[in-house]
Order: sequence, then C-alpha cells, then structure tokens
Amino acid sequence: MCIEKKLRYLRSIIPADVRLIVVSKNQPAESIKKAYNFGQRIFGENKVQEILGKREQLPQDIEWHMIGHLQTNKVKNIASFITMIHSVDSIRLLTEINKEGLKNNRKIDCLLEFHIANEESKFGLSLDDAKELLRSTDFIQMDNVRICGVMGMASFIDDEHILRKEFQALKLYFDALKTEFFSQKEYFKEISMGMSSDYKIAIEEGSTMVRIGTAVFGERQY
Ligand SMILES: *Cc1c(COP(=O)(O)O)cnc(C)c1O
Repeated sequence: MCIEKKLRYLRSIIPADVRLIVVSKNQPAESIKKAYNFGQRIFGENKVQEILGKREQLPQDIEWHMIGHLQTNKVKNIASFITMIHSVDSIRLLTEINKEGLKNNRKIDCLLEFHIANEESKFGLSLDDAKELLRSTDFIQMDNVRICGVMGMASFIDDEHILRKEFQALKLYFDALKTEFFSQKEYFKEISMGMSSDYKIAIEEGSTMVRIGTAVFGERQY
C-alpha cells in the first residue's frame, strides 16, 4: 500500500483532537516529501544529524519533533527551529535546552519522558523524578522552556492488557502533574503515546499525540 493510502487510512481513524506525528527516522527525504505533498506537516525524528540533513532538503514549513534520546551537546543544533522535544528525561538536559532557547530568543516546547515499559533499556523519569525536577529552583528559574505534557513508550509486546496498563500509568502521571504544577497552565495538555502497533489503545487511553512510522512508510531499512 502506498504512503498516501496509509496516511488517508490513519487520518480516517485518528480522532480530530489527536495529532499525528509521522515518524520519518531512517526514511529518505523522497518518502517524507510524499507524505508532505499529501498534507502532512508534522514529522518526528530521533537523531539530530538526520533532522539537520533532511531539513536542508525539505520545505521549511515542516514541524520537526525530536522524539529520541537527546544528548546535551546536540541541543544547540536544533534549538533554533525544533517544534517540540518529546524526550526530556533530566534536569541537566532541560537546563541545556533552556540555555539554547535563551540564545535563540524563544521558548522551546518540551515533554517530560516517563519510563512506563517493563524493559530496562528505555529512558525516562519516574513520577518522583518529575516532581523533584518541577519543584527545583533551577526549573522555576527557566524562562525559555515550556513543559507541555508527558511522553512515554510502552513495552514492545502484543499483550493488550499490559499495554493498556502502561498507557493508563502515563495518563495518571499527566493528571498528577497537571493538578500539582500546571492546573492554571492551558499549554500543559499533551500526552504523547502510541506507535504503529499500539496507537489505537493509546488513543482509547487518552493520547493527544501519536508517533507513527512503520504504519505510514512500511518497515524501516537499516
Ligand atoms: C521509532 C519511534 C516511533 C515510531 O515507531 P513505529 O513502530 O515505526 O510506528 C515512535 N516513537 C519513538 C520514540 C520512536 O523512536
């Protein structure tokens, strides 16, 4: 099935209030251009170098979302244009994003990444880590970042019951932070969860942003 057909299908089943982030990591610029020509403007990548390369070859009105683990020394390369960083998992990284935001005279939208999967290898904060970060005087003094919500990756499994539990956990973290830190902040509203294999469950559990690659482009070639 072609990219256009897959996008049309996804748009037909994803509710209007859930944003589709097309994950274009490992996809060539030509494939991204096809999705672009079909109206897609939001793309997610997990490597800084790849975003920079593709950005040069593609239209400037694309909104790039950084969804992968981000090293502090690479923040400066994307700070001037990145639409959202989904993968904030430490105060050190957030401090760097704030610093680069200041240099670029902008507020950079970020999500706090939570560890919700069983797997050891996944990055992410616990609820206590996040509260500690948000209570810290360092964070309170940051004027050039804006925490817009939370992000998480569920386990790589098929068990719907477990996936649902993991998404529910992320929704609970979101609700807890909203109540304690962001109740007056209209911009704190995003729950970035759901990928090709589990986005339907994620949407049922409250996702506001799904990050979908394979279901648009097919299997990635490495
Ligand atoms: C690759 C990736 C996705 C998309 O995965 P698919 O299974 O191809 O839809 C979503 N989120 C993150 C963080 C990723 O790295």
